[in-house]
Amino acid sequence: MSASPEYKKIPPLDELLKQAESLQQQYGRHSTAQALKAQLAVLRKQISTGTTLPDNRNALTSQIIEHTEHALHKQFEPSLKPVINLTGIILHTNLGRAPYPQAAIDAMVNVSRSACNLEFNLATGKRGRRDDHVEKWICELTGAEAATTVNNNAAAVLLTLNTLARKRDVIVSRGELIEIGGSFRMPAIMKKAQCKLREVGTTNRTHLKDYESAIGKRTGALMKVHTSNFEINGFSHSVSAAELSGLAQKHSLPLIDDMGSGNLIDLTAYELPAERTATEALNEGIDLITFSGDKLLGGPQCGIVAGKKSLIEAIEKNPLKRTMRLDKLTLAALEVVLKLYANPATLVEQIPALRLLTRTENQIQQTAIELKNYLDSHFKSVFNTEINPCESQIGSGALPTKTLASTAVTLHPVKGSVEQLAASLRELPAPVIGRIQNDAISLDVRALESVTDITEALQQLPR
Ligand SMILES: *Cc1c(COP(=O)(O)O)cnc(C)c1O
Repeated sequence: MSASPEYKKIPPLDELLKQAESLQQQYGRHSTAQALKAQLAVLRKQISTGTTLPDNRNALTSQIIEHTEHALHKQFEPSLKPVINLTGIILHTNLGRAPYPQAAIDAMVNVSRSACNLEFNLATGKRGRRDDHVEKWICELTGAEAATTVNNNAAAVLLTLNTLARKRDVIVSRGELIEIGGSFRMPAIMKKAQCKLREVGTTNRTHLKDYESAIGKRTGALMKVHTSNFEINGFSHSVSAAELSGLAQKHSLPLIDDMGSGNLIDLTAYELPAERTATEALNEGIDLITFSGDKLLGGPQCGIVAGKKSLIEAIEKNPLKRTMRLDKLTLAALEVVLKLYANPATLVEQIPALRLLTRTENQIQQTAIELKNYLDSHFKSVFNTEINPCESQIGSGALPTKTLASTAVTLHPVKGSVEQLAASLRELPAPVIGRIQNDAISLDVRALESVTDITEALQQLPR
């Protein structure tokens, strides 16, 4: 086989590299050589299965260079890129959770261009503290005495437990020993924080006396955990934060609450399901709360710890804090988001996550009709469409049992499978992500504020 005269037609790598000078300049010599070698391997494979190559050496060289350029272009395309989230899960952890407010994006761009006063106090000319940029706003909005920030809520929980209860028992109700998608399991976090988990009560019922009888000289803290992604109904009982607070005070123990979502406002005012606010938790007597920045708060990925000043100071002295500190981009975005909360009148308009969650059924239906009309006039040969009612989820474990009425445009492929159609939607320059359901693709348009946001992407869809 290797005796085939076709192999002799393949130009040598050196010669191809010379021809690929501009590719080398753009992508580097190594990557270009690798990509050329890959193309030559393809040619050899084709020859071995009986393909004949062009006789004209220049034509063959151009063809190889062209394919190499295409391969390099694909290889160097951004791996992380915007997608159009029509899954119906608004704060989708796998799709990056909350979209940022424009003002937060501007602030990030602004501080990333040059040096900034991240840890530099401009009033004194001395070293500053990075949390100073956000702490007073967190305190203002939650009523906490002090606050600190880390990379995510999982880190906030780990750091809080490790600081307050290292080598001691932490008492938690069995009904709150949660696992959250993406490997957050309370028992595992406890272990890594070097705390001993002391479970009390049963899955469905825990009483104050269960906590009380578990308190001993090894106890380091009492903890409540938001059961973010499930609900126990029926014959159940849990102990309120206020009751636990009394018990914690009696024994001089800190009471921690992992709130999960960082909710700062009364959501029922916007016809969303009720969710306890940070202020409520602190008023109930919780000493330290922890929550995420990119869930209901609608900001950047981060974890916030807020509450008693003495406890926050202890947390800041923990060397682990240094391993989880926020970068300037996140702090810049968080500062803007917190300030938006200072003006409740424009809040929902300014924070995209809240704006999407509070769109009216009527608005969403209008978008669905517009999208259906657009699709019907451009893609009749690719899929048939219909409009269906559907339910959006807030996502990220926030209020999972409470869904929001929404509308979907459902796509039924004319030829080929639903999986093939879903794959071509994912291959678009701005990938469109829907949900495969009942052998069709359901596009929940709650997160599509304008149909023009999707039409440009769809123009590339093969017809
Ligand atoms: C989401 C969640 C976490 C983890 O938060 P991340 O910001 O994703 O690290 C921890 N605890 C609860 C109760 C949660 O809901």
